Amino acid sequence: MSKNRISKNTIDIISDSLVPIASGIFFIFWAVNLLKHPVAYFPIIAFPIIIFYYFSGSIFSAILVFISIMTGILESLFFIDRYSEICALLFECLAIFGVYAVLELYRKRHVNVRNKFISKYEDLSRKISEKESIILENNILSSNLSGQIKNFRKIGDILQTFHDSLSEKEIVHKSEDIAFRFFSKGSWKLKKYSEYDKITYYIKQNSVPLIVGNIVEDKRFNNYNSEKMSLIAVPIEFNGIFWGILEGYSREENFFSQENLQQLSMISGIIATALNNFYLYKKLQTLAITDGLTSLYTNAYFKERLGEELNRSRSNKIPLSLGILDIDHFKNVNDKYGHQSGDFVLRRIASILRLNFRESDFIARYGGEEFAFMMLHASSKEASKILEKIRASVEHEDFFIPVESLLPVCLKITVSIGFVSLSDKVESSEEEFLKNADKALYKAKILGRNRVEEYLYE
Ligand code: GH3
Ligand code: MG
Ligand code: MG
Repeated sequence: MSKNRISKNTIDIISDSLVPIASGIFFIFWAVNLLKHPVAYFPIIAFPIIIFYYFSGSIFSAILVFISIMTGILESLFFIDRYSEICALLFECLAIFGVYAVLELYRKRHVNVRNKFISKYEDLSRKISEKESIILENNILSSNLSGQIKNFRKIGDILQTFHDSLSEKEIVHKSEDIAFRFFSKGSWKLKKYSEYDKITYYIKQNSVPLIVGNIVEDKRFNNYNSEKMSLIAVPIEFNGIFWGILEGYSREENFFSQENLQQLSMISGIIATALNNFYLYKKLQTLAITDGLTSLYTNAYFKERLGEELNRSRSNKIPLSLGILDIDHFKNVNDKYGHQSGDFVLRRIASILRLNFRESDFIARYGGEEFAFMMLHASSKEASKILEKIRASVEHEDFFIPVESLLPVCLKITVSIGFVSLSDKVESSEEEFLKNADKALYKAKILGRNRVEEYLYE
């Protein structure tokens, strides 16, 4: 396009300045020679002037033409004697004027066409440059879009990767692998929060992502690393909890860009969701509160409640007793009558427990054939009474087990129970409390089974 402009300017220079100059030279040449042979020289010289005028269109050439014709007329009137020559010269003047008039008409038309062409040319040039800038913008946009599509594909892969990750260790391992695959550079770590790690501590305190060109020169992290290292890190947060950070590092200075930081924030969101899912799943698992076979509370839920009740009873100085029941020689039931009969006995004992305890008490299936109970507001004496009643109820119960035989099979079952009551003098944790009840149960077993024993503090 710039080349075209140069050639157009060149044409203008020629027509605007060189043509009038050439016309002037021809005019002088004509003036000198005209006096010698007016009739012969006049048209020879005047015609090129007109032609030049046509091409240049300058007023200077028009004046020259006018002077030429006027000179021809004056010469014919005052300097030439012969009548025939005067007529010839006047006729030439007339002819030249005619040619000039016709050319002037054409020239005007030519100038109009030329002007139109120039304005069209300029219009087109403007449109072309507009289109060129649109194409350039589109190219940038399309390269940005293809970059984004690439990123979205990678993110899709990441989501797929976490689809079945249900262990924290697995998520950590996969996250580091994913970050490396996404950026194809640097080393990556998913770090859990620790106040001893300066980077995680800094990010938690300021809750901002971090990008460091060279850690050695960064005063915020004095003595963090002795060798030069660039670093990038984003927080991993979910449910308002700061879990840790996703961190990338490299031995090269200024290795990571602001764009990398944006992409990393996107990935960290996905990792946070995967971790959150894992914690929710874990919580759901622990909080699955009822046991499938007996419909009593599960061990996990029982322990959670025990902690709460223990604290409440202790701070309000309310009595609390904890017992563990174990079926005596239960293995024999399974071995002799099958697992189904064993399950039947377990369900029956669960019903006896439900019948004998109060609404406010907590009963749980503690293990395979062990049950645990929390007796709220029950002192050692009261607990002993209730538990003895339960032991006797089981002893006197007839367990008609579901086995295929002509006559119904009735089993006699006994249980051993150990229990412990809250003491004013000794502060025991929930674990210790359970351990003490278990010790009492063990005592009941070694003292011959089918009995209730209390753990006595020394
Ligand atoms: P002890 O008087 O010393 O307690 O003897 P035991 O036979 O009861 O003790 P042990 O702990 O050796 O046996 C417990 C048995 O309980 C073993 C296991 O097969 C059985 N068991 C555990 N859970 C279940 C269950 O859900 N259903 C059935 N049917 N049996 C179970
Ligand atoms: Mg047992
Ligand atoms: Mg047992």
